Amino acid sequence: MTAVRFKGITKSYGSVRAIDDISFSMHSGAFTTILGPSGSGKTTILSLIAGIIEPTSGSIEVGDRDITHLPAAERNTGLVFQSYALFPHMTIFDNIAFPLRIRKASAAEIRQRVGEALTQVRLEGFADRKPHQLSGGQQQRVALARAIVFKPDILLLDEPLAALDRNLREEVRIEIRALQHSLGITTVMVTHDQEEAMSLSDHVVLMSDGRIEQVGTPDELYHRPATRFAAGFLGTANFLEGTWREGAIRSERGEIFPSHGKALSKALSPGARVTGLLRPDEVCLASGPGALEGRVVDVDFLGEVVRYTLKTVQGQELRAHVTGQHARHKEGAQVHLTWDPERVWLLPDSTEATGGAGDDPAADRADNLHQEKERMTQ
Ligand code: ADP
Ligand code: MG
Repeated sequence: MTAVRFKGITKSYGSVRAIDDISFSMHSGAFTTILGPSGSGKTTILSLIAGIIEPTSGSIEVGDRDITHLPAAERNTGLVFQSYALFPHMTIFDNIAFPLRIRKASAAEIRQRVGEALTQVRLEGFADRKPHQLSGGQQQRVALARAIVFKPDILLLDEPLAALDRNLREEVRIEIRALQHSLGITTVMVTHDQEEAMSLSDHVVLMSDGRIEQVGTPDELYHRPATRFAAGFLGTANFLEGTWREGAIRSERGEIFPSHGKALSKALSPGARVTGLLRPDEVCLASGPGALEGRVVDVDFLGEVVRYTLKTVQGQELRAHVTGQHARHKEGAQVHLTWDPERVWLLPDSTEATGGAGDDPAADRADNLHQEKERMTQ
């Protein structure tokens, strides 16, 4: 079921188009993340859902109700911001009780609901403390409790982990996921951190410059990005550029990158210009003959994973992330590189038209992707 639907939403601040004609839907009970670089319009989307601002044009629906002009107070959304924004002089209990008091709940109901919310964020026993007596992670959990205590229809989180240091970030991230799973509440989170987005979301809406770049599951965005921007934003990307011929992408420098060369539905025509995406975890370093010869330029040993920077004999830099072994290749070592040609994803926006109308795999593929996008946003 659709929880929130944006239909042709534009939001301008003077001459700045913060949001430029976007349409998409969020599913009821799902965790949706709005991901994108700073200034791409994420907070604006959240503020539009909360009713803090109104769109310049377009409409917003919840279920089948048009809420475009509904005041914020009537929308029943719970909000958590980057800075906890707790009331410093109030106890934890009173902080969490605040939205219930505004709603004129009875003292008995307040006691019961605040108790429940404290349990849900595992802070029983903290009711009488003041915010400054809690860690940053605990304060953010209080902010979460305050956002859910009145049983909102939608939970909105704007960079809720950004102000926390690494360990606390993980703590609150786990808390958010557990809370969302146990309550089944429709949740929309804003973040610029692709790792957070991947770990928490059912669906990701990737934004760039006020527009939607791609909508999909974390897996789809990572393995089947629609654009070069998407490929680069979600993790490390090796881009293999060249012309496609006989099971490989041939670069101008003379590298032969193995690639199955199949567009979504049709085979590519020989000579088509393409960009293949090869994730670093797909690259194998072999001692025997491989597809390419190269040299280790840098070794970054991180314990669980070793990140190699390699350079082919012809000069292209490639990244390889290798797990489950020691960093046995040293800087300067000669290596052979291999990968499964099936694992090279051809970027849909990379294949230039080489044939006439009706014989254009790029257009075909763009079509397919478009249909897929439509399906995702139903
Ligand atoms: P994000 O949350 O992705 O960093 P925002 O939604 O906050 O992005 O902002 C999107 C764009 O709109 C930015 O260019 C920002 O400067 C602009 N913007 C946001 N709010 C205002 C405002 N109140 N007045 C003028 N410009 C704004
Ligand atoms: Mg923001």
